[in-house]
Amino acid sequence: MTKRFQLRVEKALNDEHLGKALGHARDGFVVKRQNAIDAFPEFEQCREQAAKIRAHTLAHLDDYLLQYVEKVEALGGQVHWAPTAADARQIILDICAAEKAKVVTKGKSMVSEEVGLNPALEEAGYELVETDLGEYIIQLAHEPPSHIIAPAVHKTREQITELFHQHHQALGYTEKVTSIPGLVNEARQVLRQQFLSADVGITGANFLIAENGAGVIVTNEGNGDLTMSLPRVHIAITGIEKIVPTLDDVSVLLRVLGRSATGQSMTSYTTFFAGPRRDEDADGPEAFHVVLVDNGRSQMLADPEFHDMLRCIRCGACLNHCPVYGSIGGHAYGWVYPGPMGSILTARYQGLDHEPDLPNACTLNGHCAEVCPVKIPLSELMRGLRRHQNAQGMQARPARWGLGLWAALAQRPRLYRMISRIAAGTMARAGKQGVLRSWPLAGGWFAGGRDLPKPQGKTFMDVWKKRNG
Ligand code: SF4
Repeated sequence: MTKRFQLRVEKALNDEHLGKALGHARDGFVVKRQNAIDAFPEFEQCREQAAKIRAHTLAHLDDYLLQYVEKVEALGGQVHWAPTAADARQIILDICAAEKAKVVTKGKSMVSEEVGLNPALEEAGYELVETDLGEYIIQLAHEPPSHIIAPAVHKTREQITELFHQHHQALGYTEKVTSIPGLVNEARQVLRQQFLSADVGITGANFLIAENGAGVIVTNEGNGDLTMSLPRVHIAITGIEKIVPTLDDVSVLLRVLGRSATGQSMTSYTTFFAGPRRDEDADGPEAFHVVLVDNGRSQMLADPEFHDMLRCIRCGACLNHCPVYGSIGGHAYGWVYPGPMGSILTARYQGLDHEPDLPNACTLNGHCAEVCPVKIPLSELMRGLRRHQNAQGMQARPARWGLGLWAALAQRPRLYRMISRIAAGTMARAGKQGVLRSWPLAGGWFAGGRDLPKPQGKTFMDVWKKRNG
């Protein structure tokens, strides 16, 4: 395990506030999702259809992208291709400079985190205001998001009260507000002025529709609508994989997205946007730009082993059901995407050696793949990353030797059975109080201080044979 990962994990495990906040969030997300699915008998059919739509789109991504671009341009919008993160940042900086912008408002967008847009805008001197409540909280705390749909999920109400009190006093909010509605209301009032004074509004997009050139964003606060429609200029930044062929396809994806993400049949606001304001429109921006980010996606698309990962619709269900994420939160993952989906995206976008511990931190319990609304085989992909690490000699020598020995034994079933029988019998007679602590694989460097329960003296195969005759 790398020292930096170990330190981040230790910090997270010792953070009392984090443990409390994650516990609340996990219970809420998991229960709400299950209730929403129980109330929707067609969920599995819908999920099957959603997975097919995503797979089909990715197989014809170039055609659908061209169709989308043609439609956007016909509506008066401008499309910009960003092969890298640096290109994406530069395109947006150039648009803001050309528009002589001063204040930039921003809706939640994980792609903008991925390309490092906020620091670039701030360095260039723009007043940048996050308008999603969670993003606004972490902007005040100078922290990155720790969850893809609930960026401030790691913060308790008490911590948010302190943050608001510290930052809003100068704006005239001298009373400490502690209730959730009170905090939301205070943030709403502070943000209202920013919405009205912004020159450029930047949002992400949950989907882009090839057949009509529209984009879709879903929020629960309506901040996305205000970010895109009040400023003179709207910039939508998103990954090239967000294309969906038709409106009908979007309706299927929306049905699984809300339920998987927050347990809602639909999020409070589902907003479709297309091009700049037309003469007959009541509101909307004078100019519309869409920045299509590649940043490693084409490479992943061309890789048959990992291209399924591009089906992801960023619902966050895999994070909410992951015991590792539930214990250490998002910051311990070391990059913008946390949890099971993040472990794979980090390895693919940043390189296998960027955070080499992530695929190995996974318990492979498979729960993430069971809940994924577009059926991404997350555990399989994680196993694939481990295979690559092993092939490239990236794992520690004892782990490689251990795996090599185990693989050699697994190919000789009779020898495997004999050795496991001896090991189970010996281990059953060792140790005290039902646990093993001083064995090399128990309690020590491998188990990180955990106790290994003593086996009962019989192997799994012996028990199976006895039960099944
Ligand atoms: S991998 Fe699946 S479960 Fe995880 S965020 Fe993406 S779509 Fe949701």
